[in-house]
Amino acid sequence: MIHPMAKIVVTEFMDEKALARLAQAHHVHFDPQLHQNPGAIAEAISGADALIVRNLTKVTQDLVGAAPNLVAVGRLGVGLDNIDLQACLNRKIRVYPATGANADSVAEYVVTNAISLLRQFPRSHRLMGQAPWPRSACSDGREAPGRVLGLIGFGDIGYRTAKLALALGFRVLAYDPTPKIKHPDVPLVELRTVLTQSDVISLHVPLTEQTRHLLNKEAIQTLKPGCILINTSRGGIIDESALLEALESGHLGGAAIDVFSEEPLKNNSPLAACENVVLTPHIAGVTQDSNQRVSDMIADLILQHFA
Ligand code: NAD
Repeated sequence: MIHPMAKIVVTEFMDEKALARLAQAHHVHFDPQLHQNPGAIAEAISGADALIVRNLTKVTQDLVGAAPNLVAVGRLGVGLDNIDLQACLNRKIRVYPATGANADSVAEYVVTNAISLLRQFPRSHRLMGQAPWPRSACSDGREAPGRVLGLIGFGDIGYRTAKLALALGFRVLAYDPTPKIKHPDVPLVELRTVLTQSDVISLHVPLTEQTRHLLNKEAIQTLKPGCILINTSRGGIIDESALLEALESGHLGGAAIDVFSEEPLKNNSPLAACENVVLTPHIAGVTQDSNQRVSDMIADLILQHFA
């Protein structure tokens, strides 16, 4: 039986071709700025059957309550911390993440930043143009082969990051109490081993009550001096004031931070003034290519839901 035309509301950006495929079969209300106005979302979804969001739309119990017909939520990404899953379950609303569709983009972000930060390229870039010529100041970079990349969380992204990192010569360790997947060259070890033995640490866990501030001041103090920290998971997982202190004191050798406890990051964040640091606006998993893959996957899942 074909479901009659469904009403689908999309509150954040989505690839045009995927939107067009949805619009061929259903009514689509697309407003990529809608996420900025929760009141307007509640109004827009009052008669909706499906909602499609990225990470900026808070799908709360109240929002779900404002949409009595809602049966499906598509998430253009994988982290589900912006969606009240219990509220959706209570209403039997299916939640569809774009599992795996941006994992390679994040893995690529991690290894390229790991190498760039080990070589201190962001620091070198800052020093260029100022006298003196910083050749000697920038000559103590480190290379990947033999260096230890520690992964916290060994799921889809952790696994793909490990594959790229191994190809570049890193030794890879991972901590994950419930790994879904194994790799013969990636020993699963205790958290403390990852913290104390890694030259680069990258976080790949969801934000939950267990992972909030997993990297607090105490944990950061146990890192090897000069360790590079990469966070593409969620902002709340690192204590940002402890991170700042460790960067400013020189205990950490650098960081690539894509996600923040508060997004957008405030102007003049002191993190931006730190020397060997790359800050990006939550785009580790967002590229032209992944936008197409993520949007196609969610369009397919929503089309199947109503087929
Ligand atoms: P995944 O579910 O495949 O893997 C997560 C892993 O974390 C699982 O293996 C799980 O066992 C492990 N884990 C859970 N709690 C843990 C803990 N306390 N300690 C150690 N490991 C723990 O998810 P994924 O696809 O690899 O994505 C990971 C996270 O990356 C997402 O939850 C999302 O927040 C983030 N993400 C960010 C971007 C971005 O653009 N910055 C893009 C995609 C995903």
